[in-house]
Amino acid sequence: MKLKRWQRVTLWVLGTVLVVLLVAKHFLLDNPAAPGPEYVIDLAALHRAATAAPGALPDHVEVEKVAEFVVPRTLVVAGDGLGTHKMVLLAHRVVWPDHSLLVDTAMSEAACKSLPSGKFDAAAFERVEKAMVQAKDIVFSHEHPDHVGGVSAAPDFGAIATQTHMTREQLMSSKLERKAFAPDTLERLQPLDYQGLYTVTPGVVLQKAPGHSPGSQLIYVELANGARYVFVGDIAWTKDNITLGRGRPGIATLIMSEDRGAVAAQLKALAGLPKDVHVVVAHDPVTLESDLKAGVYRLGFGGT
Ligand SMILES: [Zn+2]
Repeated sequence: MKLKRWQRVTLWVLGTVLVVLLVAKHFLLDNPAAPGPEYVIDLAALHRAATAAPGALPDHVEVEKVAEFVVPRTLVVAGDGLGTHKMVLLAHRVVWPDHSLLVDTAMSEAACKSLPSGKFDAAAFERVEKAMVQAKDIVFSHEHPDHVGGVSAAPDFGAIATQTHMTREQLMSSKLERKAFAPDTLERLQPLDYQGLYTVTPGVVLQKAPGHSPGSQLIYVELANGARYVFVGDIAWTKDNITLGRGRPGIATLIMSEDRGAVAAQLKALAGLPKDVHVVVAHDPVTLESDLKAGVYRLGFGGT
């Protein structure tokens, strides 16, 4: 059978479109990033930094689940196909007998309206707001609104300004949603500058991890009973990113303008940590449930 010219052209166009779609699917959805230069997590150095200064180590860690939401799985793990993926919005509190430190602050009900299929827990966020005022220190895995939103929504910024420690990278980042903060509030924060490791207080150490955002950092916590935690913020969105060695797909990276190679190198370093180190992923409901069952942290912010 001899095809007419318009039929040949149509077939050629359809074939080209198919190839372009397959190439786009490969690079935007399926292909995980190759790790960039090695990222090192030196647990011995973190332990030394956590325990060098005199002072009690923390007693336990608490968690608040402020919201639940749903995103397409294909945006979370490269190559994992279609389907939905549940996520949670968490804030953590490290507790000593006489003081506390917050890791991230979630965000307000108004801000949570932007989350797809979001369910907000007003009582949980109220406890986070109260804990921000009580905390001796507040640190952030990174500067995205779902992590610093509690601070930007604080009804009395003066009551939390002293204890709010944002790094210079977080404060200068183009990813910080400045318009969410009331005028003259960000200017009241003293930028935190450090190189290498920074001990916030005995038991809590920061290590820069730019990639997901310029201000991303690991928060290492060591308890008096020897339990070790690494809060990774959004370097991973699910523990699967670490265990499967596959980060977010190219399209998610493009939307958020991540440094894919840096994030992939960090995922590899996290995958290499001993199993007794609790890697805390900020949005993973599956790990949250299993960690709660295992007593890794307690649900709900308690007293002081
Ligand atoms: Zn996040």
